[in-house]
Amino acid sequence: MTQTPHTLNEWEALYPPRQLPAGAEVVRIAPSPTGKPHIGTAFQAIVNYGMARGSNGVFVLRIEDTDRKRLVPGAVEEILDSLNWLQVPPDEGPGHGGDYGSYIESERLESFKLVADRLVAEGKAYPCYCTPERLTALREGQLAAGEPPRYDRHCRNLSPDQRAAAAAQASAPPVVRLAMPDSGMIGFDDLIRDHIEFSAAEQDDPVLLKSDGYPTYHLASTVDDHFMRITTVVRGEEWISSAPKHIVLYAALGWEVPRMLHTPLLRDASRRKLGKRSGDTSIGYYRAQGYLPEAFRNFITRIIWTHPEGKDVYPYDDFIRLFKGEALTKSGPVVDPALLDHISCEHIRHLGAAPLYERTAEWLAWVLARTEESVEFEVVEKSGRTLTPFAKGELQRFADAFTASREFSEGVLSLEPERYKKLSDIFMHARLFYATLFSPAERDLLAKQAKGDAALAVALLEEYLPLHDQSGDEQQWQRIGYGLAERRELKPGVVFMLLRVAITGLERTPPLFSIMRVIGADEVRRRIGLALGALRES
Ligand code: GLU
Repeated sequence: MTQTPHTLNEWEALYPPRQLPAGAEVVRIAPSPTGKPHIGTAFQAIVNYGMARGSNGVFVLRIEDTDRKRLVPGAVEEILDSLNWLQVPPDEGPGHGGDYGSYIESERLESFKLVADRLVAEGKAYPCYCTPERLTALREGQLAAGEPPRYDRHCRNLSPDQRAAAAAQASAPPVVRLAMPDSGMIGFDDLIRDHIEFSAAEQDDPVLLKSDGYPTYHLASTVDDHFMRITTVVRGEEWISSAPKHIVLYAALGWEVPRMLHTPLLRDASRRKLGKRSGDTSIGYYRAQGYLPEAFRNFITRIIWTHPEGKDVYPYDDFIRLFKGEALTKSGPVVDPALLDHISCEHIRHLGAAPLYERTAEWLAWVLARTEESVEFEVVEKSGRTLTPFAKGELQRFADAFTASREFSEGVLSLEPERYKKLSDIFMHARLFYATLFSPAERDLLAKQAKGDAALAVALLEEYLPLHDQSGDEQQWQRIGYGLAERRELKPGVVFMLLRVAITGLERTPPLFSIMRVIGADEVRRRIGLALGALRES
């Protein structure tokens, strides 16, 4: 914006109706920069972006920063970064340009003030001089009397003289309140719900403009949705109770009410509203665990919508093409980690080794850059899901090994990629392939494989060692193992488990011969040598 307009007509002229194809949706998200971007913001962004793309419309990002006490430095950058990671970039917004800005509410204060002034001049809103002390006493009295707390409209009914006296006495600028109707019903049609109605008599007179000159949510979102020419307001269910205030405000200003869609609240696995008790629900948390953005988008759309073919796993394009706002589920979608893992696993396994290598390298760099001492990854076991801390140094060593040879790591990743549900699983489960990260099994674990007989384990490994050569293949390694077992009258499984533990340090691993192939004969022999060393220690 080059110059701030000084009348409402000038504001109107600045933001002409948009020239868009029929049916185009102009939608927005309006996150507040008050902390780490939340999964709820991701949900809104994924739905809004989908609606805009699917209708050749516009997706607007607006920063709702009018609650000055709650601002967190850096939060706007984090919002932009999260949307970028999710691959749902706004068409218009801070850092993205657009003709309907500023997209930061605190930079549009003049428009809110003009609207409030006009409403006051027309008697549709009024200045309120009540002190915080009076409001607190009022509230306490109402609560004590078992009444719902609300403003008693004291300042609404002041005569001009009383108003002038109150203004003269006031130590702070007044707030501006909207004069809600005394009776009748205020209703609207929500895109996914039946007609919703509120009794006007039960409505409070909401504050529009605060004493510090900043608008409240009610004023800012109504004015901005109007000037940004938003066609459908998509926002969380928790805002349904604000809708009657906004409808009265639109009517008072003679503005058209946009369509409204109140999305259901996300729930955790215990079907509680996602909150502090549900653990870390920031977008960054999912990114740090190594979920791919396409998997995360797939997951979010899957829990709020049903693919026409009943699929769990599908590209975001399907959602964009097939989703209509009306088709959104009404009941609380559950953020089910097992379903997320399932969807994520499918995306990872179909990626291919080369892209998976790149995504993993990028992810490692991102996590390392924002880790100070340690990082926690979700480990899923039969007993449940736990967060396990890993020292930054450990992750750094993995990253160094992983990126030292791209070709080698692609070989690692092409082996059973379905073992990985998220990129952190690669760090946890692929370490065994890297020479620099390998630590041999302890003596007892090795001996256990040979019926607890360390001498037998030594003998078997000593015999195997010189036979394992570079030119061998899986069949040859198998033959050697069978031969050894036969000569010693052992089950072949004994020999192969011993080799597995010697070569990987672990009892449960991907197929042994595949590991041998990926790591190469020199490394196999080196590891058998280390195992022999451990076994010979007494
Ligand atoms: N700042 C509000 C929020 O983050 C915006 C609600 C809306 O979309 O109108 O929930």
